[in-house]
Formats: sequence, C-alpha cells, structure tokens
Amino acid sequence: MTTPILEPGSILGVLGGGQLGAMFATAARRMGYRVAVWDPDPDAPAHQLAAHSYTSPFPDPTSREQFVSLVHAVTLEWENVPAELCGWLEERCRMTPSSAVLRTLQDRIEQKQFLSSRLLSVPSFAAVESAGQLNLAVDRLGLPAVCKTAKSGYDGKGQWILRSPSDVKLAETILEQAKSGQRWIVEQFIPFVRELSALVVRNESGECRVYPVVENRHEQGILRDTLVPASVSPDVTEQAEALSAQAVAALQGVGVFCVELFQTEDGNLLINEIAPRPHNSGHYTLDVCTVSQFEQQVRVICGLPLGEVRLLSPAVMVNLIGEDVRSVMSAAGFSTLYSTSGAVLHLYGKPMIRPGRKMGHVTFAAPQKETAIVTAQKFIATLRRPV
Ligand code: ADP
Ligand code: MG
Repeated sequence: MTTPILEPGSILGVLGGGQLGAMFATAARRMGYRVAVWDPDPDAPAHQLAAHSYTSPFPDPTSREQFVSLVHAVTLEWENVPAELCGWLEERCRMTPSSAVLRTLQDRIEQKQFLSSRLLSVPSFAAVESAGQLNLAVDRLGLPAVCKTAKSGYDGKGQWILRSPSDVKLAETILEQAKSGQRWIVEQFIPFVRELSALVVRNESGECRVYPVVENRHEQGILRDTLVPASVSPDVTEQAEALSAQAVAALQGVGVFCVELFQTEDGNLLINEIAPRPHNSGHYTLDVCTVSQFEQQVRVICGLPLGEVRLLSPAVMVNLIGEDVRSVMSAAGFSTLYSTSGAVLHLYGKPMIRPGRKMGHVTFAAPQKETAIVTAQKFIATLRRPV
C-alpha cells in the first residue's frame, strides 16, 4: 500500500509542543510544510514555530473540529497525549502513529505484555494494583526491583527503585494513598552493563530503516549523554538493530520509534521501553546525519520516501538539564562552547528553569569517537550540579 504524497504547503498537525515538536516544526518548515501545534501550555517551545497554535485543553470539541478541518496529517511528539483524541483524529485524517500503537505503548504494562507475547525479550515484570500485589510481585521477582506507574511517567518520574524491605514498605504507602484504579508495573532491576537505543523509521508499506545503535547514560532517570556509535561489538549492534526493527514491525508501527535496550553482562539484550516518536537519544541525527529523525517523521507522515540513516561523524550529545543551562548562558560559557571545534549548541527557549527540565543540548562531533568523548566529558565537568 502506498500513501499518497502530501505536497509542500500542506499543514502538518503535531500534538504536544515541547522541544521535540519544535524540532519537528523546524524540519517541516524547511521542507516547505506549515505546522499546526496543539499544546495546552502557551509557553511550549513549538508554538513559536507554528503557523497555527492551539492552546485549549485536548477534550475541547470546538478546537478539535477546527484543528481537524485545518490539518492534512497529524503526528505527536509526546506519548501521553490522549489516545482517544488520536482515535478521533484518525477517523477524520491521516494520523501517525496510530491510536492502537499509542494505546499499547502509553501503558507500560500493556507494552511489556505485548512485547513478551511476541517473544521479544523484556525484564521480568508483574502488573500491580494494590500493596498486597506489590508484595507478591517482590516475592516472585526479588530485590532489587523497580516500581513504575503504568502511565504518564517520563524522565524517571513516577518510579522508585526498591532495594530493601523498607523501600517496599514506602512504596506500599504510596500505593495505598493513590487513587483507586491506578496501576503500576514492578520490574526486575537489571544490572545492565550498558543502555543502548535504536531509532527505527517505518512507513505504511512496512519499509524500515534503523539508525546506528547508540549508548546512553542516565542520571536519576534522566538522559545525561548519548554516544554514537555505541562501543559494542558488531554482533551486539546487529542484534540490537534486529530486535528494535522486529519490535516496531510487531506493533505495525508507522512513524519514528525509539527502542531503549539494556545490554546485560552475558551480552543479552532486553527491551526497556519503546517511544512512538523521535527521541532525545536521537538528537545527534540533527548534526551528524544526512537526514535527521525529525525529517524522517515528516517524510513518513507525508508519504515521502524514507531517508538514509547514515552517520557522518561520531558524536556525543550532552543534555542541558535544569541549572546546567546557566553554565552555558554566560559570557565565559558561550566563549568556551563556541570556540570548541565540533560543538553545536541547541537551546529550547523554555522561559523557566526547573530541576530536571531539559533546557537544551550540545552535540560534540569529532572525527574520532575518543575525541568526542573527552570533549564532552570536559564540558560535563563544567556544568553546575545537581541536576
Ligand atoms: P522513562 O519513561 O522515565 O524514560 P524508563 O523505564 O526508561 O522510564 O526508566 C528510566 C531509566 O531508569 C532507564 O533508562 C534506566 O536507566 C533506569 N531503569 C528503568 N527500569 C529499569 C530496570 N528494570 N532495571 C534497571 N534500571 C532501570
Ligand atoms: Mg526511558
């Protein structure tokens, strides 16, 4: 099945207006499209780049009608937008990814159940709705374990590592105080040697491309930096690419997806989670690939040919989290960064600094991976702490 091409001049809608939406809008505009952003937060960065902005709550019926009569296709930049809205939109216009994929992925329990039903490896897990079930899950999985809210978590929010019986007691209290009907997933804690991720681009016809596998380091559940290409054997690279592509194909996913993986000591790979959109660990594609993850998102929703996934240079991407951005936004900070060869600064234009908030990122490209790593580490050492 081939999707008819949406020509430049068409209006592309995006649900969510964070930095991922802003980068999508920038790519779309360069390619000759106009963008309609819908995010209830008027300060969301993508509004600044939009030809049309919607800031009403997502359930608002008038805005829904106006939005759908304006746009030629819709995508999203955040998986926590209402799946019901995506379902409503896809009955009326081209919606990528589908609401079915979104429903599966926006609930951590459904996501892991789906993946394990397709024999795709994930950490052992249990679905939990009460303190009693939490105890049963911990008995079965053992400690340490990780307890996560089934829905709406991001950047490590809504999750706790359970290392000791007292951590379990604390989690029990949280569960007891939560609203009825809330669900959690308890996962075995994986003592990974590396976290990897792969961006998968897949179109309506099932054609699929996978970007080079990258290596991610997190601090307090938030991505600190990404190294591309990952320092893993060709065998692991191949396995990671194959597993990621299989997972997106199993979902019949259309669009850009990021598959996050844990590499264990014995060289096995487990899927941690899948995002149905471009991803922070794919920001390097803006500066060191011929086609960025955002251009791929535009290409897929417009029915254009998929772009190549070629890496032009090794790189390290460093996030600017919370107060980090102050170290850059000073005369000394600018002078250092702008005189660093291969450094590209991206600031998201968020008006308020908050702890843990992603304010921007820097890509450090270098002909040798080791040079990029050393330059990025020197830069990280200059950042203010804590995140
Ligand atoms: P988020 O949606 O917040 O990114 P993740 O499930 O990816 O949620 O968790 C954030 C980070 O927490 C992961 O990248 C990893 O570093 C750590 N983490 C999550 N689950 C596990 C696990 N089962 N074992 C070990 N570390 C984990
Ligand atoms: Mg994650």
